[in-house]
Amino acid sequence: MFDAHLHLSGLRHPQAVLEALKSGALDSCLVSTVTESEAGELLNRLQDYPAFLTIGAHPCFTRRRSFDRKALDLLLQSPRGGRLVAIGECGFDRHSPLDDREQEQLLLSCAEAAVSCNLPLVLHLTQRRGRALELLKDFPALKVHVHWASGSHEILRRYVKAGWTLGVCVSDSSAPERFKSLPVERLLPESDFDAHKEARLSYAGTLRALTDLVSRAAAALSLSPGSLYARLEKTYRETFALSEPVAVQEGSGSALPFTTHPEEDPCPTCIP
Ligand SMILES: [Zn+2]
Repeated sequence: MFDAHLHLSGLRHPQAVLEALKSGALDSCLVSTVTESEAGELLNRLQDYPAFLTIGAHPCFTRRRSFDRKALDLLLQSPRGGRLVAIGECGFDRHSPLDDREQEQLLLSCAEAAVSCNLPLVLHLTQRRGRALELLKDFPALKVHVHWASGSHEILRRYVKAGWTLGVCVSDSSAPERFKSLPVERLLPESDFDAHKEARLSYAGTLRALTDLVSRAAAALSLSPGSLYARLEKTYRETFALSEPVAVQEGSGSALPFTTHPEEDPCPTCIP
């Protein structure tokens, strides 16, 4: 299984994710970060795992109006820079300390950085989804992935029409429906924060939920779970231009001192 969007900082059981990567229960994952400094911290710590990373400027976690391009360049030039495969998450959230205009400025600076580095953009949109579509029209070369894509069916169709890929979160009660109503080659399963009740116990619960989602979607599409999974994994690799799985080195991966967000729980406003 792969997980196209998960967080380690603030997760109750980050070590369980690493163990799943190490055992092969999780083939690969894209670790999403919410600030540039979080990405810097995680990049080196993930070096022995088949994990890739985004560099974020989440509207709930920053007061700046522009993406830290310097931090991105430094990370890309570092020995592990190849693991940094996307910019985001970034986007619009009503709980942001920034007003609408400032959030737009921040999103545009992320999009500019993504285009100039030829990296895809991972969007977090819990509001003003149409506005994001409108703004990003000015970046035709930009590859866009909307994580935990939520909203009306109409808006999801507009994302597809724009050429974007969409994250389907295991915690989304509409998840099985998404597979039936949207082109499967545009969808990527994800877990995001440990919002899923099973993940509160262990990441193994999340993995079971992801696997179950793919199985149910395959049944609804009259495909075998294996063939659906292969199609989803192809999209995952193409969207983030991932290299082959990174070899895991024996003896690595001891307990890591992950950072935590100031809140006891991950930011609840991240959940649409
Ligand atoms: Zn997220």
